[in-house]
Amino acid sequence: TMASSLGKVELRTLGNTGLKLSCVGFGASPLGNVFGPVSEDDAIASVRLAFSLGINFFDTSPYYGGTLSEKVLGKTLKALNVPRNEYIVSTKCGRYAEGFDFSAERVTKSIDESLARLQLDYVDILQCHDIEFGNLDQIVNETIPALQKLKEAGKIRFIGITGLPLEVFTYVLDRVPPGTVDVILSYCHYSVNDSTLDDLIPYLKSKGVGVISASPLAMGLLTEAGPPEWHPASSELKSASQAAAAFCQKKGKNISKLAMQYSLSNKDISSVLVGMNSVKQVEENVAAAIELANNGKDEETLSELEAIFKPVKNQTWPSGIQQS
Ligand code: NAD
Repeated sequence: TMASSLGKVELRTLGNTGLKLSCVGFGASPLGNVFGPVSEDDAIASVRLAFSLGINFFDTSPYYGGTLSEKVLGKTLKALNVPRNEYIVSTKCGRYAEGFDFSAERVTKSIDESLARLQLDYVDILQCHDIEFGNLDQIVNETIPALQKLKEAGKIRFIGITGLPLEVFTYVLDRVPPGTVDVILSYCHYSVNDSTLDDLIPYLKSKGVGVISASPLAMGLLTEAGPPEWHPASSELKSASQAAAAFCQKKGKNISKLAMQYSLSNKDISSVLVGMNSVKQVEENVAAAIELANNGKDEETLSELEAIFKPVKNQTWPSGIQQS
């Protein structure tokens, strides 16, 4: 098959954690049926193939599919039947189907629930999920100290924060003791249409904080099938994305492959987390990484894409509550 001739994706060190993450990470939100229904057989086959191609990093959250993603990921990882230290799992806390709660009490209870659903004794990374919806001072003074206790208890190895607006990362990292937050997960800010994460990287490096960048396909904008109904982009950005996908198709190129290669080419990003729910997507995204390592980027088509996106370059959408 195509898969057996692919080879393995490269590993990259995550900040000061010592973890070596596959440069392509497996985003498990689709396993919670966030982008449409996925059978358990497809989920197991996708995770198994991903792991065999060197993908060792799997990201989920109790929020995805109202706990379904964690449960399905737990089953698929168990089905791998490999030693626990061969894969890296991150989940999150503070965001749930019922709403947000970053209190020490809730996140402390939340990890036990997540571990039970994942059928694991520990997770490698626990991240405060979408902190722009919380009070950032509570994240600094209450949530992260609670997570440090979970670290001491051996339930988590490293602490992270996630969110859309990039300012939330500097707000928190400027206020916590060095070394308490090990990693940030940014999304939709390092892709062909929006590369604003780039400006934050020197700061993150100076703090020794590892960088994970999610949603290289801009949550479906950079796919031939287009985004899901709930996608928050403006109609202007959606139209530009549609035009970009059509342009690539006409040229015999695949927009998702180009988008993956764009994100993967920044080596300061330890892992590019892409949401996957089929064997075909795993094969395509791994092939994109390996082709990039062997042959470099398709500079010509990428600059044509950048021209199409120029009017909406770095356009984002509001997320979170107004901070005091
Ligand atoms: P994404 O940009 O990775 O896009 C996922 C969509 O693209 C899905 O519909 C998927 O089926 C499809 N897809 C994947 N590979 C494809 C290919 N080769 N060709 C065509 N379509 C393809 O967006 P995402 O899933 O939202 O983000 C990836 C992961 O990052 C999530 O699953 C999650 O784990 C993480 N994430 C975290 C946060 C957060 O913490 N706040 C936010 C966004 C994403």
